[in-house]
Amino acid sequence: MTRDLLALPTNEFIAGIDAVASTFDSASYPQQNLPADDWEHLVKAGVLLPSLPKQFGGRDSHVEMCRIAETTSEWNLALGVHVTVNMALGLRPVAKWAGEDAQQEMLPLFAGDDPLMAGLAATEPGCGSALSSMTTTFEEVEGGYRIRGRKHWQALSFSAHWWLVVARHADSDRREYGYFIVKRSEGFRTIERYEPLGLKVVDYGVNDIDATVPRHRRLKVEGANLGTMVEILLVSRAMMAALACGFLRRVSREAHAYADHRKIGTAPLSTIRFARYRLAAIDTSYTICEALNHYLQTTLDVKADMTLAFPAVQAIKTVASERMLSSALHYQQLAGGEGYRCGSPTNIAGQAALDSRVFTIFDGNNDLLSQQLTEYCLARQASQPLSGFLAGWPLTAPAVTALKPDLSFLDQDLDQEHQVLAGRAIAYLFAAGQVMRWAAETRAAPGRVQAATEFLNHDLVGIAAEFRLLATGILGDADDAVRPPHSAFSHLAQT
Ligand SMILES: Cc1cc2nc3c(=O)[nH]c(=O)nc-3n(C[C@H](O)[C@H](O)[C@H](O)COP(=O)(O)OP(=O)(O)OC[C@H]3O[C@@H](n4cnc5c(N)ncnc54)[C@H](O)[C@@H]3O)c2cc1C
Repeated sequence: MTRDLLALPTNEFIAGIDAVASTFDSASYPQQNLPADDWEHLVKAGVLLPSLPKQFGGRDSHVEMCRIAETTSEWNLALGVHVTVNMALGLRPVAKWAGEDAQQEMLPLFAGDDPLMAGLAATEPGCGSALSSMTTTFEEVEGGYRIRGRKHWQALSFSAHWWLVVARHADSDRREYGYFIVKRSEGFRTIERYEPLGLKVVDYGVNDIDATVPRHRRLKVEGANLGTMVEILLVSRAMMAALACGFLRRVSREAHAYADHRKIGTAPLSTIRFARYRLAAIDTSYTICEALNHYLQTTLDVKADMTLAFPAVQAIKTVASERMLSSALHYQQLAGGEGYRCGSPTNIAGQAALDSRVFTIFDGNNDLLSQQLTEYCLARQASQPLSGFLAGWPLTAPAVTALKPDLSFLDQDLDQEHQVLAGRAIAYLFAAGQVMRWAAETRAAPGRVQAATEFLNHDLVGIAAEFRLLATGILGDADDAVRPPHSAFSHLAQT
């Protein structure tokens, strides 16, 4: 059946996925792990095909991967996560970095009708942000590699059939990381299930691994640092622009409908001016994420090596996830007590808040990513002050020129806390630049553009205020501060 899908033009193909995704509408779909039968409907509609190369039966399309993430997230954010994990973290690294034997063994299976799933196992109970301290090991054995350790919080922990497992060399004197394709049946065991607060369509848990895999199942990548890990995660992070765009289109629509319908006294909620302010904040977040999604679809290419997109992707992930969460909370506030109900017939605000909460935490927590974005810029500023560097750097220069923000607060010795905040400021500048570019290329309504740049400008002013707050000494003496350990990304930030 999926073979017919290969001939469809993109719009028709995406329309088919959209039709199936509509049956997963978060307003009515149960808050439960996705049953295999339901996943099969999506697989048969071709949801995995864009992430697969053509020679293995796929459609091999960056834009279609993004559009699938967007449309599934509009219907159901958790479904968008499910699909994105499979496409970006499970299949794409194999399609990009595995040898032909491993690709031939695994990828054609995902081009068929079977409801197979694939995930990425990186995080461990003892390490998430600082992956370099992972304890899962690999060693060479006759005919292949033995991988042993414990991972947790993997999306699709219990249900994925194929895994990409990251491990370090068992000889602790050798600083070497390996990436291995492992079938669940080869020794990937879920020993505990987690009950997440949201995103309940996806299953999570603790996974013990003791697997021996043939030699060809090791990805053909550099292992001296975690650079490949970074590259892999840049894809799912970048795709958050698409997830956020779909999710916020829905939240904006639902919040307006609720506010127009709900009466406060005799007049609709939407006639109250502060309620309109909340709606404007939601709409603006949608505008910003639509612009980020435009950048993702037109400038980035998740089929290519994403390494050089590091700073743009750090900005995309942090801004998009912040906007998702703040909008969900505005919507929930507008929905009042009804927004605190599970299964309310009038709104999906409670679910939106729970589902979006984790986006600033997972896939690299936002505070760490912001720090790394600052480190990246500091390593390139040469003799200029940071504000001068940002005025000339292509990713931020358009916004600096247009908004003329006072960035002099950045021109000082930046402690760790300042670096996190500075990274957020840099990300807002990047986002403002993308809003302007998107507006020019799509002839977006000027009102939307102005509101988005005003909100982002306000966010910048807020960061300057936080610098002043820190200057009052609220953190006490810095002498006992311990810098976070080097992360998987430090080599990228510094070089
Ligand atoms: C729903 C969900 C799905 C997930 N999916 C997967 C998956 O598919 N595969 C997988 O391998 N993992 C997955 N994870 C794991 C996820 O990527 C980690 O939870 C995340 O990277 C954070 O690691 P941690 O939980 O160990 O937090 P920690 O490393 O303990 O960090 C805790 C907090 O410390 C603070 N912090 C850390 N570093 C800094 C810094 N430099 N500056 C300021 N503050 C800092 C932040 O506030 C951070 O949130 C998932 C997690 C969740 C919750």
